Amino acid sequence: MADLPLLENISNIYKRMSHAAMRAGRNPDDIKLIAVTKTVSIEMVRQAVDAGLRIFGESKVQEAIKKVMSDELRVTSNKIKWHLIGHLQKNKAKAAVELFDMIQSVDSLELAETLNKQAEKLGKIQEVLIQVKLSVNDDKHGILKENLISMIGQVIKLKNLDLKGLMTIPPYFENPEDARPYFRELRELRDNINELRVTGYALRELSMGMTNDFEVAIEEGATMIRIGTAIFGERKLEEAL
Ligand SMILES: *Cc1c(COP(=O)(O)O)cnc(C)c1O
Repeated sequence: MADLPLLENISNIYKRMSHAAMRAGRNPDDIKLIAVTKTVSIEMVRQAVDAGLRIFGESKVQEAIKKVMSDELRVTSNKIKWHLIGHLQKNKAKAAVELFDMIQSVDSLELAETLNKQAEKLGKIQEVLIQVKLSVNDDKHGILKENLISMIGQVIKLKNLDLKGLMTIPPYFENPEDARPYFRELRELRDNINELRVTGYALRELSMGMTNDFEVAIEEGATMIRIGTAIFGERKLEEAL
């Protein structure tokens, strides 16, 4: 049984997601909720599965291994999907390809090539997003927009990667409206790439929006929102795990 606050949190988020979608004239079914479970206990993740959530996001490979391989979650593993949303070091690429249904944080061509090699060895087609860094003066990872088209041109040649779209993490703002230009810019980048036919197929996914700003992200075209705090409450310190 999922506990009550969790169920309430989830149904609130779905309500807010549909309202934001309707405001923008979008179909709420076009937006996926990724439940971000970094620092969240296996028991809570299990409850979130019982409550109906199906896609989970982790930012670290080590932490994800513990969860994906746990007895509590392995039994349901055919029903749930795991996405990597944090920076990946190349030496963990093999484990990442083994674990994750989608890697949202591809932030260099070298990483893409390493993932492609590992996927080839496993006979897997690895779904990926390219992480775009839209704010030059912060320390987040990601491809600068000036380099995006040439990066995509290279990534689509990698036979064992399936590029689905773009991901971004804007700077944190108290007022979510301040994040809107970043979300709009990511959508415009995707639309531009599709118009220029860089890939030979249409990129669909825009992974953008977190607890503080997901409604604005949906209004600007997000197809995946990544929500931790609004589902599971404030995160414990990392050491608590
Ligand atoms: C932690 C994290 C989130 C979730 O953040 P909340 O504000 O708790 O919803 C989303 N995306 C990434 C990349 C994260 O690291």
